[in-house]
Amino acid sequence: MSEPTTAPAPASAHPPVPTTRRALRQAAATVDGIPVAVAEGSVAQWTERYTHAVMDTFGPPQRVLVRGEGPYVWDADGNRYLDLLGGIAVNSLGHAHPTLTAAISAQLGTLGHVSNFFASPTQIAFAERLLALAQAPAGSRVFLTNSGTEANEAAFKLARRTGRTRILALEGAFHGRTMGALALTHKAAYREPFEPLPAGVEWVPFGDADALEAALAPGDVAALFVEPLQGEAGVLPLPPGYLARARELTARHGTLLVLDEVQTGMGRTGEWFAHQLPHVGGGIVPDAVTVAKGLGGGFPVGALIAFGDTAATLLGRGQHGTTFGGNPVAAAAGLATIGVIERDDLLAHVRDVGARLRERVAGLDHPLVDSVRGEGLLVGIGLSSAVAPAVASRALAAGFVVNPVNPTTIRLAPPFVVTHEQLGTFVDFLASLDPGEVAA
Ligand SMILES: *Cc1c(COP(=O)(O)O)cnc(C)c1O
Repeated sequence: MSEPTTAPAPASAHPPVPTTRRALRQAAATVDGIPVAVAEGSVAQWTERYTHAVMDTFGPPQRVLVRGEGPYVWDADGNRYLDLLGGIAVNSLGHAHPTLTAAISAQLGTLGHVSNFFASPTQIAFAERLLALAQAPAGSRVFLTNSGTEANEAAFKLARRTGRTRILALEGAFHGRTMGALALTHKAAYREPFEPLPAGVEWVPFGDADALEAALAPGDVAALFVEPLQGEAGVLPLPPGYLARARELTARHGTLLVLDEVQTGMGRTGEWFAHQLPHVGGGIVPDAVTVAKGLGGGFPVGALIAFGDTAATLLGRGQHGTTFGGNPVAAAAGLATIGVIERDDLLAHVRDVGARLRERVAGLDHPLVDSVRGEGLLVGIGLSSAVAPAVASRALAAGFVVNPVNPTTIRLAPPFVVTHEQLGTFVDFLASLDPGEVAA
């Protein structure tokens, strides 16, 4: 493990105001005299306060961050980091993007929230944009949520409306943490403390189409949930042809095919949706797709897209709801994010910088690097031993935010605006790693 870059400041109830730090000068501490963006205090002081105020579900924060700009973030001590995780595949446009900021502010200053007894043009236009990007056929409809797990909850309820109760997911699957989405999630450590969960879910072996065929054969499965590329499991691609075969088998047995594109959707893989990549999806049309993470460029928003009139009418009036889902500010964030990706041709950029990054990491021929996986800017660097946490902590000390998604994998999901040169600095960092020191 590595040492932090900065000496921890002593914790105190009344920390002195550090006026000399660039990051703190630039962060607004008050709005109209009300402290909304408090910035005074060191990383160590804020970390101490965190432990007393915030539930310990995530473990101690690695740093306390005060500011971001493009692909960079700054901590409370003024240290800069290249954000190669992008808030876990969320900050597609980078931090503090001026267009996204202006769109959110304009909508909030016009109409910030209405109940779902009413609608807003922004919400409607956003749903239409999603249907168009998903190339959804006539009759398709959207249910807007605030997160990925809620999008999968909605999909779970939609599946139950088929009248069937069996649901299939894949071994290694991650679909979220609320009770329904958790019931679909494979990892026993996440599920078992919360049982009983909604019943009827079974997991089939990852990437095994014959096992899937056998599980579907009785003709009583409501839905199959699949991530086109498993994110939380370590950026694991499905075998070529698996999704096409899954589509054919689910169609034959009257089972809904639900693609969880919460992590892979909205441009992350270099297409709007991962299943639209020819070598991933082979042109399939799913029955439903869930999205969130990058959808609002950092603003919380998610969606369930139901394909075709049959799937889109399974949830009827009164059968599902949300107070915040579809709120105009979230919709404006979504429209702005999509608009910038299109205007700046970011899908092509994501394909380009992502491919070059994978090539360069593979080309290092580094003894620590075992494989390089992923699509676009969702990248998994497979390590030859279980040193991912040590590599990530060295990376942080050197100014890079990365994620040890499992003991042998470093996950990268940087903002789409990241450049070849910026990614190159991380490749140089990897090249400089001494395998002996990392393992020690
Ligand atoms: C992150 C994620 C979720 C859960 O999304 P939240 O917004 O954290 O609730 C669901 N499915 C996949 C594939 C994800 O990566």
